[in-house]
Amino acid sequence: MQQRAEVTAFVALGANLGDLAQALREALQRLSETPGVRLVRASSLYRTAPIDSSGPDYLNAVAELATTLTAPDLLTTLQAIEQGAGRARPYRNAPRTLDLDLLLYGSARIDSATLTVPHPRMGERAFVLVPLSEIAPGLVSHDAMKNVSGQAIRPE
Ligand code: ATP
Ligand code: CA
Ligand code: CA
Repeated sequence: MQQRAEVTAFVALGANLGDLAQALREALQRLSETPGVRLVRASSLYRTAPIDSSGPDYLNAVAELATTLTAPDLLTTLQAIEQGAGRARPYRNAPRTLDLDLLLYGSARIDSATLTVPHPRMGERAFVLVPLSEIAPGLVSHDAMKNVSGQAIRPE
C-alpha cells in the first residue's frame, strides 16, 4: 500500500489556566501517541505575559512533528487534544487550559475558513518565535526576532 510521505510541521503550545507544565507535557504525550504523528523535538518551556489576552502568565513551547496526517486532520487532532484538556472558548483571547496552534505544515500555504498556514500572527509573537528559533533556528530570521524583542519572555 502506498504510504503518505511525512511532512514536517510545527505546533505552538500555550496555557495560562490550571497546571501549566502538566498541560503542555500531556499535550506532547497525546501528540506522540497519535497515529500518523511523530514528535521529533520540543523546545524548552517559556514563561510569557499575556499580550492580546488576559489573565495569568502563559507557559509556551513549540514542537516539531513529522506527520502523515493532512493539515486539516492535524488541526482536528490539535482541537481534540485541546478539548481533552478542558479548553473552553467563553470569549476571544480568554485564558485557556491549552491552546495548540499549527504554525507551519511543510512549505504549505493554506487559507481556508478554518485553517490558515503559516499561522498569520506567528511573526508578531515572541512566545512563538523564541521557542521556534530554539528548535529550528534556520526558520526564524534575525529581523523577525528583532521585531518581537520588546516582549517579555523568560525560560521557565
Ligand atoms: P490566535 O489564532 O490569534 O492565536 P486563538 O489561538 O486564541 O487565537 P482559537 O480560539 O484557539 O484562537 O482558534 C480560533 C480558530 O482559529 C479555530 O477554530 C481554527 O479553526 C482557526 N485556525 C485558523 N488557522 C489556524 C491554525 N493555523 N492553527 C490553529 N487554529 C487555526
Ligand atoms: Ca493561539
Ligand atoms: Ca488556537
